[in-house]
Amino acid sequence: MNNFIRVPVDLGSRSYDIRIGSGLVSQLGQSLEDLTKQSRVFVVSDTVVWGLHGRVCRQSLTEAGLTLHEFILPAGEASKSWTHLGELLDWLLDCGASRDDVIVAFGGGVIGDLTGLAASLMKRGMTLVQVPTTLLAQVDSSVGGKTAINTAHGKNLVGAFYQPRLVLADTGLLNSLPERQRRAGYAEIVKYGLIDDPEFIVWLEAHGDKVLELQSDYISHAVAVSCRAKARIVAADEREGGVRALLNLGHTFGHALEAANGYGPDLLHGEAVGTGMALALKYSHRLGLMSMAECVRAEQVLTDGGLQTSISQLAGGPYQAPELVEAMKQDKKVRSGHVPLILSKGLGKAFILPNADLMDVQQFLSEELQGR
Ligand code: NAD
Repeated sequence: MNNFIRVPVDLGSRSYDIRIGSGLVSQLGQSLEDLTKQSRVFVVSDTVVWGLHGRVCRQSLTEAGLTLHEFILPAGEASKSWTHLGELLDWLLDCGASRDDVIVAFGGGVIGDLTGLAASLMKRGMTLVQVPTTLLAQVDSSVGGKTAINTAHGKNLVGAFYQPRLVLADTGLLNSLPERQRRAGYAEIVKYGLIDDPEFIVWLEAHGDKVLELQSDYISHAVAVSCRAKARIVAADEREGGVRALLNLGHTFGHALEAANGYGPDLLHGEAVGTGMALALKYSHRLGLMSMAECVRAEQVLTDGGLQTSISQLAGGPYQAPELVEAMKQDKKVRSGHVPLILSKGLGKAFILPNADLMDVQQFLSEELQGR
């Protein structure tokens, strides 16, 4: 087998490995040997990913003696729907899939989330393998077991916690990823430094450009550090009763920005998170928790990664402060009307503020929108 970095996710009987390295898809078939006795495998992908990388995936599985059943969805967020979930489940039932069968999610976060949910529901759980193909999916969505679809009521509101049995993050697949998608994934990488790893921020200051250029050792290291951080937090709090909420740094502001865009293509999730993190840090400074120098430094790391940190310049606007605060109140983390915010007491010192003062947040956003 090729060299790869192994990152274990320690969840007792639901533990699994993340393997990170270039060319891992060619080992997919071999990697499934320990996971199933069946001679077939179900693969879910989207038209773009399958067009680019389906051949190597198919070859790897057939060389391992596996028969492939393919379910290829349209690319894009709209595939995370009741309709596509139903079609996918019906297809699995038509094929006679059982709990012992493996289903492979071969794509970005959309395919991962939809396939993960289908896997959790199918006969109350079939074996799930994630092969994330976007940077965002490799460092975030494929790890940790959150699965979901969107409904008319909002994004990710119907879902389940369902862990994969293996994650294969083939960094070679990222070469075909459009630059904008790469930058969006980079925001989530920066997030792990800002949560609790200031040394990683220092590393990104020195090497972030090489990560974005996908230089092999640098991209593998960045994905591994990110996955290790996520694995550690998920192992401590699998179902987000506490510390896992730190992974939402920048996401409460970010989701409000996405909601204002109807979750459309004008603003990618990672782009919204990048600006959302800058807002969270600036708001921390406003509360006297973080120095301006640290804010500026964090913003620079995001800006160097091609991310917009100023809400007044952000794509998809113009935004309105009352509308953003209204969207923040709809956040899944809201309990008894209390809106928690992930803020920071310094670089790499994120913490959970359980009940934000929304009047003050609205005032802050108004000032930021005026480009203050
Ligand atoms: P995505 O899956 O829509 O992929 C983005 C685009 O890139 C798509 O058009 C896709 O076809 C294309 N693509 C994928 N891999 C490619 C490759 N290697 N080369 C070229 N093109 C490629 O989006 P995403 O950013 O990966 O994921 C976003 C989704 O992830 C959202 O639905 C979000 O809610 C979800 N998410 C889930 C979690 C979680 O914990 N489950 C965390 C973060 C985000």
